[in-house]
Amino acid sequence: MVEVNVEENVKSASIFAEVSKMGHEQVVFCHDEPTGLKAIIGIHNTVLGPALGGTRMWNYASEEEAAIDVLRLSRGMTYKAAISGLNLGGGKAVIIGDASKMKNEPFLRRFGKFVDSLNGKYITAEDVNMKTSDMEYIAMETKHVTGLPMDMGGSGDPSPVTAYGTYVGMKAAVKKAYGSDSLEGKKVSVQGVGQVGMYLVEHLTKEGAKVFITDINETKLSSVAANTGAKVVGMDEIYDLDVDVYAPCALGATVNDDTLSRLKCQVIAGAANNQLEDEVRHGNMLLDKGIVYAPDFVINAGGIINISSELAGAYNKDQAYAWTEKIFDTCLNILNKSSEEKIPSQESAMILAEKRIEDVGRVKLSF
Ligand code: NAD
Repeated sequence: MVEVNVEENVKSASIFAEVSKMGHEQVVFCHDEPTGLKAIIGIHNTVLGPALGGTRMWNYASEEEAAIDVLRLSRGMTYKAAISGLNLGGGKAVIIGDASKMKNEPFLRRFGKFVDSLNGKYITAEDVNMKTSDMEYIAMETKHVTGLPMDMGGSGDPSPVTAYGTYVGMKAAVKKAYGSDSLEGKKVSVQGVGQVGMYLVEHLTKEGAKVFITDINETKLSSVAANTGAKVVGMDEIYDLDVDVYAPCALGATVNDDTLSRLKCQVIAGAANNQLEDEVRHGNMLLDKGIVYAPDFVINAGGIINISSELAGAYNKDQAYAWTEKIFDTCLNILNKSSEEKIPSQESAMILAEKRIEDVGRVKLSF
């Protein structure tokens, strides 16, 4: 596994150095003056199939930050698809800007044209600040888009399935840490009660977990608290809580030097992508501290599994949920491999995913 300090490289050297180190096949910069669209599409690996991954719209502080995000996220998608047994590669797109002000029909359709120009090598879907309704505009310009509304034959919002997969993955990690997969009576902190977090909280409270929630959005917080009985805590307070499980469901890199000195949990299992600020250093710190970490790309794969059902033809919800349930065994297998071989769980998962890409890639070489 290669240690990657993306930020340093993207800032100080050429993006090619980073792309070459992380193994991306292609990075596409999209610019359209009239609509103000600035987007980057990252295609990491297409050995298993076309690069599938959502589009994230974010008001990045800098273009470097956006480039870092797309490189890390697209690479994560390669591992996610591979470990989930899907015949898909890894890709992702980021759009730079304020989603509440810039998104409109021409803006989204222009983005759709850029996706189309890749002829199916990249297939887009939703991610942070992109909704099913946005996919409808993108679909007017390209057929390489998924996550369409159900009334258009699509699989709809992937978030409930992602939340379900995160929940079963969390149960696997709890089984590894405590010997039983029951969440009844377990204290769980959930950071971010957006599309995924709010469904996750429903599963947790239904099973009898004692749930603590935080979010920057006060309206979402009070609505989820009122619906589920979860207790609201402060944004920074979440890292100091005496809980069994910490579930990051907002943005990445919240497992870092600062938080690792504060977290008291036995398990980290959440939906956010790229939770470890530095996957090697913080993966090892988790191992040393005896915290069971359910690798993010393993347990947040429900959404892509759901979308793969849409890609296969007619969307089948039962099939998507049944496949998502396999996350329990996949996650437990990785956690057992991690403890047996005394290597971080993130590394165990990456080794297994890389092996599948290599093995299937070899099979594909023959006629
Ligand atoms: P979302 O935008 O609906 O929800 C994120 C929530 O986090 C929002 O409510 C936001 O206000 C909150 N938030 C942002 N910064 C915060 C902070 N510092 N502290 C507390 N809360 C904060 O996004 P989502 O679809 O729920 O996705 C959540 C995470 O899961 C993202 O990292 C996403 O990439 C990942 N993910 C989502 C899916 C999916 O199907 N939606 C699939 C795989 C991974």
